Amino acid sequence: MDFESLNQILGALKIMERSPQQKQFQKLIESWEQVLGVMATHTQPLYIQRRVLYVATSSAALSQELSFKNPQILQKLNPLLPTPLDKIRFSTAQWHTNQLQSQSTQTKSNEWLDHPSMIPKSQKPPIVSSTDKNQNPQTTFQNWAKAVKIRSQALPLCPQCQCPTPPGEIKRWSVCAICAIKQS
Ligand SMILES: [Zn+2]
Repeated sequence: MDFESLNQILGALKIMERSPQQKQFQKLIESWEQVLGVMATHTQPLYIQRRVLYVATSSAALSQELSFKNPQILQKLNPLLPTPLDKIRFSTAQWHTNQLQSQSTQTKSNEWLDHPSMIPKSQKPPIVSSTDKNQNPQTTFQNWAKAVKIRSQALPLCPQCQCPTPPGEIKRWSVCAICAIKQS
């Protein structure tokens, strides 16, 4: 799946959204990669609570690095969000939980629907996207999740931390940007 169809699905998700919290989080996911750039592959926004965004990261060094950049990130991110955030908290704890979940015996669809960044089933609006009558909201979610997964699987793995890494980083440092920071 290419970026264009991914954007179409994100557009469909926009139609389905209901609560301000869902809207806020979807907007965040859309803006996150734009603001973080290559760093985004090493992070996973989890949830927002009282205007604090919680983000899992692949390493403690990255948590520290991004915590220092908190004001710069908020400055770029907040204009893109319906409600501005006060703070972002980075932690490696949830990252390992997420890695374990993906190795579990659950089916792929359940695994993704249970993921903290997915909208809980009970909150999912029972409407069909107006752009494609053959797709119910669940199929749309699964396709979107699949697209995101395929996209990161297509990336080469960093030889040091095994994270999906943009080829440019490996070409430049032989490892990902995060491991390059750690080594310097
Ligand atoms: Zn690495």
